[in-house]
Amino acid sequence: MDLKGKTAVVTGASKGIGLAIAQALTQAGANVVITARNQQEIEKAIASLNDLGPGKASGLVCDVRDYAQVQNLFRTTFGVDILINNAGIGMFATVEEMSPADFRAVIETNVCGVYYCCHEAIPLMKQRGGGYIINISSLAGTNPHPRMAAYNASKFGLNGFSEALMQEVRHDDIKVSYIMPGTVNTYFGGDEPNDADSWQLQPEDVAQVVMDLLKHQSRSLPSRVEIRPSKPPKKS
Ligand code: NDP
Repeated sequence: MDLKGKTAVVTGASKGIGLAIAQALTQAGANVVITARNQQEIEKAIASLNDLGPGKASGLVCDVRDYAQVQNLFRTTFGVDILINNAGIGMFATVEEMSPADFRAVIETNVCGVYYCCHEAIPLMKQRGGGYIINISSLAGTNPHPRMAAYNASKFGLNGFSEALMQEVRHDDIKVSYIMPGTVNTYFGGDEPNDADSWQLQPEDVAQVVMDLLKHQSRSLPSRVEIRPSKPPKKS
């Protein structure tokens, strides 16, 4: 796909992986619409993206858990060619400890939010004759761990959702892929990017996969990509 002048929506792009994806798209000449929940962080990210260019960046507050906010996002975007469903949260506790509100927040962000965005974007992509949807899942979408039941459920669910959707819309020239990163050095789950974790994937590594997918030969569809740190600390 030639990205110049294309419109890309990236959810959860005020920092971390989403911001790195927005940077790569802007540098490739796409016009990028970013979302998150915090207005100030969105404005900071938009300014940094517009400094990069040549694509133009804009953005608005949109909590992907709120369908009305997602409807407003796509109503004000005037068309979309690329949708990157990146917004996601992790909350880690045993099933016994985790509150119903936290469990719901994880599922509503990581699964329902993706559905809301796809539901609104697909008709707009059909009007343009096609598009590309990329969902940011996780290796936790296939690997269960204690204290990760909510997150595991959300990403296992997202994988199934992505594969079903891929089969639904490919004949409309809408491609769907999902990326399953291992640990990435971001703010995820209350963490902070730091040098001690430089063995981890960096947000730019995931952004590079997104760009590779978008530039892939259109006759083939890498529908699922796993990416992991090449040299994690050895387990003793
Ligand atoms: P960060 O916490 O660094 O960034 C998350 C971004 O999403 C922020 O911009 C945040 O902004 C936004 N966001 C969170 N909740 C919502 C919401 N309800 N609506 C809209 N935006 C929201 O996380 P990462 O960049 O690490 O994570 C991005 C994606 O990558 C997630 O889907 C995560 O599951 C996945 N992932 C991350 C891994 C990691 O190790 N970091 C590994 C594998 C997958 P705000 O808070 O202002 O809304």
